[in-house]
Amino acid sequence: MPEQSAAHPHETADQIVSRLTEGNLRFAQGLPLVADSSPGRRADLVCGQSPVAAVLACSDSRVGPELVFDQGLGELFVVRVAGNIVDDTVLGSLEYAVEHLDVGVILIMGHSSCGAVTTACACDFSSLEGATGAVLRALEPSVNAARSTCAVPEEIIDLSAKLNMKAQAQTLLDSRMIAGAVAAGGLAILQAWYDLTTGVVSWL
Ligand SMILES: [Zn+2]
Repeated sequence: MPEQSAAHPHETADQIVSRLTEGNLRFAQGLPLVADSSPGRRADLVCGQSPVAAVLACSDSRVGPELVFDQGLGELFVVRVAGNIVDDTVLGSLEYAVEHLDVGVILIMGHSSCGAVTTACACDFSSLEGATGAVLRALEPSVNAARSTCAVPEEIIDLSAKLNMKAQAQTLLDSRMIAGAVAAGGLAILQAWYDLTTGVVSWL
């Protein structure tokens, strides 16, 4: 899928974090900017895109990254999958964003009360089947790690989701291309936690 990256002033990871933090504060306060989806903006994007960051987020209907960070068309390259897990197609999509769109950040965003993680915490991992089973199996190591370190049942789900973010960030580094970009200083892999109740994103 050849695509030209539109020229843009390259933002540093710190600048990207500031941009997303400011956008999230606007969102959390109920004061988002009106995203520019005008015909003019769309026309600007026809020949290429230059998103500032790639985001791996859960498919959950309550956590849309463009909304949560108050970003408009062309600003975020978003991959969403239940439980924000990394498989080959997710990894390939993120590699594309790094290699062809020159994003400076890959952000993995987990969230509280995750339905996928909640299901994983309640399931019998020995009897998983089909495609749904593949999602839950990917969450199993983080659920087991949470259970072994946390004695408070009500905290297991969110702890599992946070450990899952760390595990998926590590999985990204299995990509030689992504690991190389990180080592060269051109890419940062970040993790953030979205709280459904407050609407606030915390950087981990
Ligand atoms: Zn979720």
